[in-house]
Amino acid sequence: MASPTHRRSRARRRTALFSAAAVVAAGLAAVPFVTSASAAADLARQTLPARDGWAAAGSGTTGGAAADAARDFTVTNRAELAKALSAPGTAPRIIRVKGLIDANGGSTCADYAAGTGYSLSAYLKAYDPAVWGRSKKPSGTQEDARKAAAARQAKNIVFRVPSHTTLVGVPGTGAGIKGGSVAVQNADNVIIRNLAFSATEDCFPQWDPTDGSKGEWNSAYDSVTLRGATHVWADHNTFTDTPLHDSALPAYFGRKYQVHDGALDITNGSDLVTVERNVFYSHDKTMLIGSSDTDSVGKLRVTLHHNVFRGITQRAPLARIGQIHLYNNHYDTAKVNGYAHSYSVNARAGAQIVAEYNAWTLSSDRKVSQLLSGDGTGAVAGRGNTVDGAVTDVVAAYNASASKKLKTTVNWTPALTAGLQTSAAALPAELDRTAGAGVLTQQGTTARR
Ligand code: CA
Ligand code: CA
Repeated sequence: MASPTHRRSRARRRTALFSAAAVVAAGLAAVPFVTSASAAADLARQTLPARDGWAAAGSGTTGGAAADAARDFTVTNRAELAKALSAPGTAPRIIRVKGLIDANGGSTCADYAAGTGYSLSAYLKAYDPAVWGRSKKPSGTQEDARKAAAARQAKNIVFRVPSHTTLVGVPGTGAGIKGGSVAVQNADNVIIRNLAFSATEDCFPQWDPTDGSKGEWNSAYDSVTLRGATHVWADHNTFTDTPLHDSALPAYFGRKYQVHDGALDITNGSDLVTVERNVFYSHDKTMLIGSSDTDSVGKLRVTLHHNVFRGITQRAPLARIGQIHLYNNHYDTAKVNGYAHSYSVNARAGAQIVAEYNAWTLSSDRKVSQLLSGDGTGAVAGRGNTVDGAVTDVVAAYNASASKKLKTTVNWTPALTAGLQTSAAALPAELDRTAGAGVLTQQGTTARR
């Protein structure tokens, strides 16, 4: 496959970026309200507003807002980002990302493989089902070499975020991380805002002949991954595979050579998370909440509101176990860049989902009965959801034709519902202006675009 550094974005600057100054110069008015954050003048010092979803529970989410000057970093490349993240101490830190950071830092897949003995051709030869069979996972020389090469890539592209951190894109700079995986693992109180995440790709997918009936190529890196993470606010970010789409990936052993994993996965006992005004586009498996049916009972409490899901195949989210609130999101089922819609929301393993006042825009190839999914144990309650502007009981539509029906009552009532709009009618147009990276000004207001 092509190395990450050999790909050039065609659509990365999909969103127009307006600095506050540019907005004034163009004679446009910035929306005169702080869209979501408390009213500190500096975007990087804003905290999650009261009652703004599950991340507002208990002590709330302040990230690095209180950082002193010595712990207020501005970074422009992967080395600077890694250094700021590893600065010792547990006091609050702010990391301002200026421009687009290439997580691979100029290294190619071939660079990572050099000296490990790994090659795709040798790997394919070693684990061809005709040679290796289908009953056990790969092991031995080439699998060890693959792991060694993968470890070298991981060292470059995985950025571990410690507790009490705000990671924020500097407005007007096209701020983002290309090819990276931001990991909040066993950490508390983290804010991730105004960043465009793209092209998170595993150079070394692992063949697993025991995954499903035909085997799968599995990849390791989510653009943002929360594991054992608590009090996390992911706000105004964009997530996409673009420019390398699944439709362009080759197949080996009859299965897609998948280099992508999740966009934003929330697993391993993560809890108290608010995912707000993000844009997810051109991706398959978008958001796991809970990685297995035995992931942490009593946790996995997540709020998703005012997000856009467009050209998303599935898992928006796939939720297990937890109490999940979905409100005022926009789901557009149209196929984009080859990503055809399978379902939007999946309730499994007893997940307790409240879905209200979300808007679905239904493409002509999809039906109202195809918006949800479940294993027969998950619940989806709610009201006020619309399909093409008409209030529609999407759960009843799903259950009318599903064998594994969704339960329609849940064991909780959402209380942390700041900004909830009791009509979904205006959402599609509103969210196109107000969600995603590149929208916020330095003051945390929304520039019209
Ligand atoms: Ca996978
Ligand atoms: Ca994942």
